[in-house]
Order: sequence, then structure tokens, then C-alpha cells
Amino acid sequence: MSKAAAASIALTGRSIVAGEIAGDGGQQFTGYHPGDGRVLEPAYSSASVEDVERAVNAAVAAAPIYANISGAERGRFLRAIADGLDSAVVQLIERAQLETALPIPRLTGEVGRTSGQLRLFATVVEEGSWVNARIDTADPERTPPRPDMRSMLRPLGPIAVFGASNFPLAFSAAGGDTASALAAGNPVIFKGHPAHPGTGELAGRIIADALRACGLPAGIFSLLFDAGHQVGSILVKHPAIQAVAFTGSFRGGRALMDLAVQRHQPIPVYAEMGSTNPVFVLPGVLAARSEELAKELHSSFTLGGGQFCTKPGMVFAEQVAAGTFVETLRRATSSGPAFSLLTAGIASAYKDANSKRTALITAEGATGEVGFAAQPILVETTREQFLQNPSLSEEIFGPTTLLVHVSGKEQILQAANNLEGHLTATILGTEDDLIEYGELLRILEAKVGRVIFNAFPTGVEVCHSMVHGGPYPSTSDGRSTSVGSQAIFRFVRPIAYQGLPQWTLSPALQDDNPLGILRLYNGAWAGKKSE
Ligand code: NAP
Repeated sequence: MSKAAAASIALTGRSIVAGEIAGDGGQQFTGYHPGDGRVLEPAYSSASVEDVERAVNAAVAAAPIYANISGAERGRFLRAIADGLDSAVVQLIERAQLETALPIPRLTGEVGRTSGQLRLFATVVEEGSWVNARIDTADPERTPPRPDMRSMLRPLGPIAVFGASNFPLAFSAAGGDTASALAAGNPVIFKGHPAHPGTGELAGRIIADALRACGLPAGIFSLLFDAGHQVGSILVKHPAIQAVAFTGSFRGGRALMDLAVQRHQPIPVYAEMGSTNPVFVLPGVLAARSEELAKELHSSFTLGGGQFCTKPGMVFAEQVAAGTFVETLRRATSSGPAFSLLTAGIASAYKDANSKRTALITAEGATGEVGFAAQPILVETTREQFLQNPSLSEEIFGPTTLLVHVSGKEQILQAANNLEGHLTATILGTEDDLIEYGELLRILEAKVGRVIFNAFPTGVEVCHSMVHGGPYPSTSDGRSTSVGSQAIFRFVRPIAYQGLPQWTLSPALQDDNPLGILRLYNGAWAGKKSE
């Protein structure tokens, strides 16, 4: 795809159904500029019930073809999407900036992250060992005779993906959920987020173009818009849909989980929902670098207007030696600028949630007057108040954090023991602190998907070992991750083949290992059958 061609994508305001621009469906909606609240053209039409049906039927028809193409072909397709995004970077950033008011450097990084994660999945499927091929050859001499048994991971079928408001690219139409579902060999039907429809359409059109360029069935990807919840509900209830990926609110994720279990065939819903990401600040580090830590914490909880699922929203600090830390945090908060939040709904939810904590507010930054403005806020409480008021541990999306004053190891460990599931937990301390509070690490392992030492949780590296998940209620299924190459495992299931002739088997399971992948062969990991 050439740069010139990519830069000229004209927005249609319509869904994309298996490569075709959909008709003028139902109710219309628009994006808004969060900085001044103005309406953005074009208006978007909701997909009709017929559009949803066509998208699902096309995905069903494409599924067996797509499931059986080689890893090399799938990799080529993922790389074509990545190249298309990179070529359209100027237009993508311009539109995303209009729809989200996020800073240009952040959006530039997000395009790179989005194309980068597509290429990461391309390397995984091209190499091929991810399918976890296992072979136990027959032993007719054994009593009873042992059959020839082989297994590998295979795609599930059409997947419904819901985009997030806070990552218009990396968790949207061509984002991590779509990339991992496509990498696993599944068609995707993407429900666009109404907060950034133009950015979603651009990415969707690039995916449709990549399918065309690679000669793959158009039904492998559809993008459906909706002003409300009808399209999403139909998708989750549709018998052909085999799994759901979602990033957003606890309420939204829980609603989709409940719909999925009510089906005749319940399906997995991988929902990444709310998380407050507790931070534990231990005495040794407070004594050593209080001021620096407070500034770093302030940057982390206000980054992107505090609209990160990994925002540190709850901080337990040892009172001993915390004076400078607290003063610096208050000063940084009260001298901070106002932020624009992503949607009117997020801005009003932010105001409502903080109005319930007014008595505990100790520092407030600038108030914005226009658009979806939000004031940075620091809330402080005692351990006793915190224990009496469970709502204090709930996520508030936006530039605020809660500082809980605790004293002594026992109180820190109790706070950790009381936690529900979160995406991350952070320990700020010295190595001596870690020895002294050794039990803390063991407790946190059971509560979160990622434990961080002496850094802040807002950066989520896209790599092979990343875990961006956590026990309920931070996600619907704490055994999975939505970031990093392990996200692919959400959209496959193991299938065993007993006694099948060689020629019927996938190359991954054939005796001579034509793909040269790592396999468990009669109980030993080997790159080749003969190794
Ligand atoms: P959301 O309201 O949960 O919506 C996410 C997507 O799911 C949207 O496309 C939404 O459509 C759809 N949806 C929500 N409820 C649904 C239902 N019952 N049936 C069918 N579809 C449904 O999340 P959001 O708009 O991104 O942000 C709202 C709040 O979510 C934030 O204030 C924040 O608390 C939380 N959030 C959390 C994370 C995280 O990573 N943990 C990320 C983003 C947001 P509609 O927009 O039409 O409702």
C-alpha cells in the first residue's frame, strides 16, 4: 500500500461488512472533539440487523479457509495491515487527535505500538511453534496397545471484539485483541467504539485493503458501528460467534459475560475491566528518595489524563518518613493543568465519583472550562476510613489517585491481603525493604497479573512475557493476557488426533516436521523429529 493511497482514505460514516461499505443503517451518531465538545463530521450510521447477519455469515464462510492457511500466509497478512497503518500514520494521528484530544507524541507512539504488535504476532505465527504440537507415537507392543496420539492448538471460529475508548489504535479496530484473534486464525467482527469512529474506520479500511492485497476472503474482518448496544448484544448472542474480547468498564464487561453464559452454547468472554493498581511505598525508599518518587507517581496517575487501565489509583504509604513524599505529591497535584477526558460520559462519571470523596480531597489542580475537562485530584485517607468504606478502592477513570496512610508492616500486609483482583501491583522499596516485607510479594502474586518493583505500572511493554490481565474483577478470566504474544492463546483450543493418517494431519503434526518447529515428541522437547 503506497503512502499516497493510504493518506487519501475518505471517511464514509458507514460500517464495513466483509470488505463492502454498508448501507445507511439505523440511528446516527458522531464523534466529538473532547477539547471543545464540537461535533465531528461525518455522522456515523449504526449497522442494521441485516449488516450484522451478513458480517457473521461471511465470517462463518471464511473461517475454515483462514484456519487452514499457513503461518507464513497469515504472517504476510498481519504485516500488510502493519504496513498499511504505518503508511497512513499522518491521517491516523490527525483523526485520532480530533476524536480523543490525546497529545500527538502519545498517538504517534500508539500507531507504532499497533503496527509493532501486529508484526510481533506475525513473527510468532511465521515461526510456528506456538501451536504447542505434541506427539505420542503408537506402541502396538504395549498392553493395552498405545494409540498414535497428536495434538495442537486450533482456532475457535468467528470472534467478536469490542474496542476501548482510551486506546483509539492499540485497543481498537486493528489493536491487540484483533491482532491476536487474527494471528490465531480466526475471523474478527469488530464493534467500533463510538468515541473514535473515524479512527476506527481508517484502521478497518486498512485491514480490508490488506485482505484484498493478500487474496484472502473479505469475511475475515468486518467493522460494525452502533449508537447503542444492539449490535454488540446481537453479536455476543449469535450462535456462530465463538469468543468475545472486550476492554472497558466493569459494567460493560459484566453485561457481556452475563449474555455469553445465557447462550445455549456459553462462550468465553475475555473482558479487561476495572483495576485500581495498588502501589505500596515502603519505608526504606521513602527515606532515600521521597521527592523523586512523589513526582514520578504524579506523572503516572495523570498520564493520558489518568485514562489508563494501569493507572496507579490507590497508594499505601508508610507514614514513617512519608512527610516529603506527601507534600511533594500535594504540590505537584495542585500545580498541575486540567485535562480533557475522552468522552462526555467519562468526564461526568469522573465528577460524580470525586464528588463522593470531597471531604478527603487534599489537593486539586486547574479546572478546565471547555469540552470534557477534568481537574487533577489527590485524595487522602487513613487506614481506618479506608477499611470502613470499600467504595474507596473502586477505579475512577481520570487524573486522580487515593493515598492511604498506613503504619507498620502488619497494616501493609493486611491491606494487601484485603485486595480484590487487579491488573498490577507495585512495590516501591529498597532490597532491604523487600527482605523485611518478604511476605508482601507472595500475597500480591495471588492478587494481580503483573508485580512491578521500583517502576510505575502505566507503561505496558508489548513483548512475549507481558501479562496484562489479573484475577476477577480486573478481568473476566485471570488465566489470560490481552497484551503481548501470549494473548493468542485466548482464541484457540487444543484438539487431539488419534490414529489419523499422516496426509490428513497439519504439517505441524507430521512425522518429518516439515515446519521445523519445537514439539513435545514422546515426552521430550525437540525441534525436529530426529533430534
Ligand atoms: P464501556 O462503557 O464499557 O464501553 C466499551 C464498549 O462496549 C463500547 O463500545 C460500548 O458501547 C460497549 N458496551 C458497553 N456496555 C455494553 C452492553 N451492555 N452491551 C453491549 N455493548 C456494550 O467503556 P468506555 O466507553 O471505554 O469507558 C467508560 C468507562 O469504562 C470509563 O469511565 C472507565 O471507568 C472504564 N474503562 C476502563 C478501561 C480499562 O482498561 N479497564 C478502559 C477504558 C474504559 P457504547 O459506547 O455504545 O456504550
